[in-house]
Amino acid sequence: MDQEVLDTQPDEVETLLIVLKEIDVKTALSKSKLRELDYSLNPYYGCQFSCLYCYARKFTPHEEASNRWGEVIVVKRNLVEVLLKEVQRVRRGTVGLSTITDPYQPVEGSRLLTRRSLEILLSKDFRVSIQTKSPLVLRDLDVLVRHRERVDVGFTVTTLREEVWRRLEPGAPGPKARIEALKRLRGEGIDTWLFMGPVIRGMNDGEVRDIIVLAGEIGTRIVYDKFNEYGISLGLRGDKGWWEAKEREILRSCEEVGIECHSEVEDWIHEERRRFLPLF
Ligand code: SF4
Repeated sequence: MDQEVLDTQPDEVETLLIVLKEIDVKTALSKSKLRELDYSLNPYYGCQFSCLYCYARKFTPHEEASNRWGEVIVVKRNLVEVLLKEVQRVRRGTVGLSTITDPYQPVEGSRLLTRRSLEILLSKDFRVSIQTKSPLVLRDLDVLVRHRERVDVGFTVTTLREEVWRRLEPGAPGPKARIEALKRLRGEGIDTWLFMGPVIRGMNDGEVRDIIVLAGEIGTRIVYDKFNEYGISLGLRGDKGWWEAKEREILRSCEEVGIECHSEVEDWIHEERRRFLPLF
């Protein structure tokens, strides 16, 4: 039986009433369909950040978390126990943390499933690739610094403008907080990247150069992607010609600024290059 707990989660945007549920899982690591990852690990189902363009709900196998996206968060309460056993028997590889939730959404502040998973994976010589929108990742700086040769952290930055952020990502920390966190991680020698996406026509596509310049100042690489609908309609659709021109602008700007830059579909090439390191 799911255990239902009403919990108020303060964050910098607004206080939301969240329903927390707890489940037991049989597996912790899932084989990833993304070429750049071997496994994905999602400590929670559902995501309080409630981004307008989010397609993770489509891939979330928990009905309530998927249907009441942003309101119902499911905690995998036995995750650590299961992961401890799994890491003894599965082949080591790169783990994406996370692919259908944000691993540092507010519930992580008290549940610590991401932190514990990170400690287990890194101590067992797995490589971990984190993607988040939350500066809560800085809480785990001690773990990240200790294993910096096997971890990278990506921050999603879709916009630098407050009105666009509030419209697109109403429950997530603002862009300023994300950029400050990215700088801090970079300053600590962590391999960082900025995920510039989704780029949405008529919404944030005029900002790509500003974001690239900022990434240049931080000294971090860029992974970019366009908005993929997955059945989600924002009423804004970019056609092929628009994206081709936008992609040329992105690549030109990255070259001018002097930072490494590639599309999401090419991210596996970057990962392949890192694999030559004899870690597993
Ligand atoms: S942070 Fe990621 S998983 Fe969470 S709602 Fe936004 S896009 Fe979806």
